Amino acid sequence: MRTTTVVIGAGHNGLATSQLLSDRSIDHVVLERNEVANSWRTERWDSLRLLTPNWQCRLPGYDYEGDDPDGFMTVPEVIEFLSAYAKSVAAPIQTGTTVTSVRRNGDGYTVTTDQGEWSCSTVVLASGAFSKQRLPDFAAAVPDSVTTLTSVEYRNPDQLPEGPVMVVGASATGVQIAHEVHRSGRPVTVAVGEHVRGPRMYRGRDIHWWMDVAGVLDERYDEVDDIVRARNVPSMQLAGSPERSTFDLNSLTDNGVQLVGRFAGVRDGQALFSGSLRNKCELADLKLGRLLDTIDEWALTSGIDDSVPPPHRFEPTRVSNPPTLGLDLASGSINTIIWATGFRPHYPWLEVDVLDAKGMVKHDGGVVDAPGMYLLGMPFLRRRKSSFIDGGRADAEDLVAELSAYLARPEE
Ligand SMILES: Cc1cc2nc3c(=O)[nH]c(=O)nc-3n(C[C@H](O)[C@H](O)[C@H](O)COP(=O)(O)OP(=O)(O)OC[C@H]3O[C@@H](n4cnc5c(N)ncnc54)[C@H](O)[C@@H]3O)c2cc1C
Repeated sequence: MRTTTVVIGAGHNGLATSQLLSDRSIDHVVLERNEVANSWRTERWDSLRLLTPNWQCRLPGYDYEGDDPDGFMTVPEVIEFLSAYAKSVAAPIQTGTTVTSVRRNGDGYTVTTDQGEWSCSTVVLASGAFSKQRLPDFAAAVPDSVTTLTSVEYRNPDQLPEGPVMVVGASATGVQIAHEVHRSGRPVTVAVGEHVRGPRMYRGRDIHWWMDVAGVLDERYDEVDDIVRARNVPSMQLAGSPERSTFDLNSLTDNGVQLVGRFAGVRDGQALFSGSLRNKCELADLKLGRLLDTIDEWALTSGIDDSVPPPHRFEPTRVSNPPTLGLDLASGSINTIIWATGFRPHYPWLEVDVLDAKGMVKHDGGVVDAPGMYLLGMPFLRRRKSSFIDGGRADAEDLVAELSAYLARPEE
């Protein structure tokens, strides 16, 4: 079969790309191994809600129009939202079709699937950034007596053995899972490395509203000093709860969760923690202060300062002294470890030489190091908001424009 563009993946980025390709009458197919919104169906825990407010679900030609713009969708609601988008786009999706190889073929590509082969001029990789857990090398050294699972495998506390749980990682995923597991009655310890602190509400508005209007989320990849670093910054400690609660480390310790430093290794059945907990927390407090300074400055210059509550600062993160530096994993002091250590994409089928040593696609703002190949959905791909649903619109618009220009290039 022949088409101009093969889009791999029918998450929001694949669907947005399809809409924009159709707008330009570019012949294409979207190949999806399962169903539309598969990652929301198979890779998320039961109680998860979007941490971005509903009004921030803005896709090409399709905005959230429900009656709760300031609320946070549940996972079934996200699946419904994306399925309705797929219908409205009338995307040419071939579901139940797994891409097994992408190879260069002359001027274009051969995309092989378990349902047949496609040849095409251009390929859009929209297969997701968060399908696998990033695990530390020493994960395999955890004693067998401890049950381990990743946040991609976690569904709810009922799946865990009774007894104490350690959640490794204190970004959005780690703090949310830690709260839930603690509420199930299990003692919880959180191993805290670098993290980004975020209050749900500030000066009467949602923090995402502030970051949106102040342009923080629109910051471009070619404007930041160190894009490699920016792409590796962990997600902000946020959750979307109906109560609009803040999910920071103080809220965890208020509830009786214990904090330790970064999980640094396992020796003789002992979990070893870095002594840097206080430093990491001070750094996160400092960065939160800088974000709030930016917001306050924007409120002043944009003239809304008087119409919102006055600026204030949050209590610094409380850290107990002295820090715990080790825990005996074999003695039952920890029965379960949940790795919430970040995600990574997975391209076992990509046979084009575009992966770096860490298995990440090499690209410049989504334009891959291979002619006619484009990438979507990676953290800070083109903008700070690239990995959010709201980032899909602007990024896909830019990259479909690039793709279109590539197709229109003069013959060599
Ligand atoms: C826990 C978690 C919470 C998040 N919360 C929010 C939030 O609150 N707000 C927000 O804006 N964003 C959130 N995100 C980020 C982001 O919006 C989602 O990860 C989103 O699913 C990414 O969309 P995507 O289209 O890039 O990729 P995906 O949704 O992952 O879609 C990729 C698709 O490609 C398919 N695929 C993969 N490999 C193949 C193959 N070989 N052949 C065929 N098909 C294939 C998959 O089945 C999948 O359907 C969250 C992410 C995670 C992990």
